[in-house]
Amino acid sequence: MLGGIEAGGTKFVLAVGPGPRTITARRSIPTGDAATTLAEAAAWFAEQGQVTALGIGSFGPVDLDPASPRWGMITNTPKAGWADCDIAGFFARELGVPVGFDTDVNAAALAEYSAAGAACNSLAYLTIGTGIGGGLVLDGRCVHGIAHPEMGHIYPRRAQEDRDFPGICPHHGDCLEGLASGPAIAARWGASLSHMPADHPAHGLIADYIAQACHMLFATVAVADVVIGGGVANTPGLIERVAKRARELDAGYLPGGTRHRIIRPRLGEDAGITGALMLAERALA
Ligand code: ZN
Repeated sequence: MLGGIEAGGTKFVLAVGPGPRTITARRSIPTGDAATTLAEAAAWFAEQGQVTALGIGSFGPVDLDPASPRWGMITNTPKAGWADCDIAGFFARELGVPVGFDTDVNAAALAEYSAAGAACNSLAYLTIGTGIGGGLVLDGRCVHGIAHPEMGHIYPRRAQEDRDFPGICPHHGDCLEGLASGPAIAARWGASLSHMPADHPAHGLIADYIAQACHMLFATVAVADVVIGGGVANTPGLIERVAKRARELDAGYLPGGTRHRIIRPRLGEDAGITGALMLAERALA
């Protein structure tokens, strides 16, 4: 029996199952302070019977360097009470099993990569919601670099009609997250994208910024698929607009051509927790 945790800033999704795609029990708990949340999660796993390994896809930043004494920790997050939280170490001690650990978006990318089948050798997963993050799988491996990607913090080319908006990222102002996340949309127009009429200029503007990120992924690492999840991505028609805009931005140049795809998660809302269970499976191996 594998255990998985999708550790998000607003909720923790917990699951157990004999394999990543066969969840037999799950629970969602609100993310409170670290001590309470971790204890509540550990108690739930104890009720499920013995798991043989646990996988955690976590909000970050996190330390993923296996040679680091801080591996498995949430590091300098601004989320109150969670900085320097040894989340992987806590569950390794509490449950006494191997723990696999990665970012929430790398876990989701891993699950989507698995669901894509043999024809797909590379995939990026973007979540567009309260924040913007991205995970990357190349040839079956989650990409970490010297830390982990932070794709929400690239600087897109600004639209003329949007140049007076300073952006909301506390670090960068008008990075992708500062321009196209849910709070950035609300800051400009006082509503979510899905509550604005289909002919509102916000749709084209936000699609353009997200399409630039997709084009960057196609042009730099030549991924087959960019999978886009998250609350903003649920806006009707947005993914289609992004895909159309990305084709315009490329202008027929990229050698991958129409094999580059921009799609919704094949696993829907289950991408993150499925990826966490895959991390458990890999920790066992
Ligand atoms: Zn930023």
